[in-house]
Amino acid sequence: MNSRSPQETVEEFLRPLLFGIAEEDLAALTESSAIRHLPAHTTICNEGDVGESVYVLVNGEVEILQRLEDGSERHLHYTQPGEFFGEMAILQQTTRTATVRTTKPSTIIEIYRDPFLAVLGRSPSLGIRLTLRLVNRLRDSDRQAIEALSAANTELRKALDRLERLDRTKSDFIQVAAHELRTPVAALTGYAQMMQNLPAVQEIPEIKALSEGIMTSTERLLRIFNNILDTSRVMTSNLVVRRSPVSLSLTLRGVCNEFSKAIEARGLHLEIKGLEELPFCPAEPDLLYKAFHHLVNNAIKYTPDGGRIAISGEVVQSPELGPVVQVTVEDSGIGIAAEDIDLIFEKFYRTGEVALHSSGTTEFKGGGPGLGLAIAQGIIVAHGGRIWAESPGYDEKTCPGSRFIVQLPIEEPAPARETVAPLEPAGAAAPAEDRMVALFAADDSPQAPPARDRPEENDNDDLVRLFSLD
Ligand code: ADP
Repeated sequence: MNSRSPQETVEEFLRPLLFGIAEEDLAALTESSAIRHLPAHTTICNEGDVGESVYVLVNGEVEILQRLEDGSERHLHYTQPGEFFGEMAILQQTTRTATVRTTKPSTIIEIYRDPFLAVLGRSPSLGIRLTLRLVNRLRDSDRQAIEALSAANTELRKALDRLERLDRTKSDFIQVAAHELRTPVAALTGYAQMMQNLPAVQEIPEIKALSEGIMTSTERLLRIFNNILDTSRVMTSNLVVRRSPVSLSLTLRGVCNEFSKAIEARGLHLEIKGLEELPFCPAEPDLLYKAFHHLVNNAIKYTPDGGRIAISGEVVQSPELGPVVQVTVEDSGIGIAAEDIDLIFEKFYRTGEVALHSSGTTEFKGGGPGLGLAIAQGIIVAHGGRIWAESPGYDEKTCPGSRFIVQLPIEEPAPARETVAPLEPAGAAAPAEDRMVALFAADDSPQAPPARDRPEENDNDDLVRLFSLD
């Protein structure tokens, strides 16, 4: 038989716990307390309730839990005998921020709020005890938060790895498919070209028109495959940028020559300014040609007939890159919406407005597969440069225009002349079929090097090899 009263039990338990507490404070706490014996899984207080009491665990164990948005509960910590709980809401005068539940049969002392706060106001022993409890609690929360963050970080890293693997698989598939499809299409282009030259075809207008249709379509297919291959190289494998001093003036004039017919046909006004004075850039000419090919091609595609395209160059000091050649390709076209301005450099990204328009390569709004800017960006970045777009917005009626700015370092990056970058060399040891594809690619294909660089004397050899394929 237990001869002690509940109040005596409370006093006996609190005295050592609040070591040094004044007798009258201990008595005040004891008088305003109740001792409770609770079975396992009893909820002592609920998250959101108004806090009316502070508790001390005498024996057993209680669990502190927090409700999550999905209705489940997250374990915060277990409280051991001799520890206070439920004091936060009382001190902060807020509702409970956690639920407390016994995990096994437990005994607790419940101390009512007002007398507790009154004693706390005058008792250093109780203050120190509670402060220690809060410090431990804070340390515990810090540790838990760090553990939760690092667990989430690990999960995120795993998810990122998985996504990167998937992306690589997808890119590999696209690359293999484009590569496999390109070879027969290149052959088709060759046959169509030969057919077109036959006198019998030239003489019958209907057949001539049909064979021209075949040529145009196969050339377009080739361009798409070449762009896909260029893009996957930009994104996945390694490019050795073989640098030599490059005149941007010559490069851009080559690109503009390539489009001269289209510019004339569309009544576009082309202005070229400040390119002659630019210093040479350490770059790979064919790659730069490809990058500017896409920028000029876009300026043509997204500017209505009779519009203006201005290409200008200057040397500026970039805070990040030092002295750079800055080339701006500006047009008076449909412009780009603010929300698209960064996304357009993503592969296969096309703005909704132009995605379903004409399919011609230089016609107004002749949308392509959304690869040109991804390729251009990959090339410029591989050269240690920067590219970005500016536009007041998208409007097909008022045509606010767009501006694409490219910055290329003037100084060669130290120490090697060759920089490993994420793109394959355009002309380096390409397999025979690749060279044949380049040979048969349409004139406006970025794969085609400037006319002055074409190995005219090898054309026949490549033709012979093409037709001996398969
Ligand atoms: P696409 O093959 O569709 O032209 P790009 O990667 O070259 O692919 O361009 C992506 C998208 O960026 C285009 O579909 C177009 O919406 C937008 N864009 C690119 N250049 C311009 C420009 N000069 N003016 C307006 N929009 C442009």
